[in-house]
Amino acid sequence: MKKNKERLQCIHATKMIPAFILRELSCRELERFMEHMEECENCKEELSIQFLVEVGLNSLEAGNTFDLQEELNTALEEARKKVKIYRFFHHGLFILECIGIAAVLLLAVLFVLNFAG
Ligand SMILES: [Zn+2]
Repeated sequence: MKKNKERLQCIHATKMIPAFILRELSCRELERFMEHMEECENCKEELSIQFLVEVGLNSLEAGNTFDLQEELNTALEEARKKVKIYRFFHHGLFILECIGIAAVLLLAVLFVLNFAG
């Protein structure tokens, strides 16, 4: 039950596509968005279509030649890296927090021992 709640649903993933293309998703949103894209073919297809419309038309207007699949792959690759960095720091901060709590506990114990002795 909890897992279903945490997992992004297609309707939400689809709504996030325009923000993804404009690179406006937060790291947390991007993480969930990418997880969904990795395992949901329907949404990935929807992403390709919206990417084509958004990026493709803009490129045509600007008179640029472009390889859409390549552009999309680059955008996805960028997003994956961002998620990786986000996870790394998120995990790192958690460890730092644990070390911080341990240090405070240790100080508290030393403090008490000092008074007891
Ligand atoms: Zn989906």
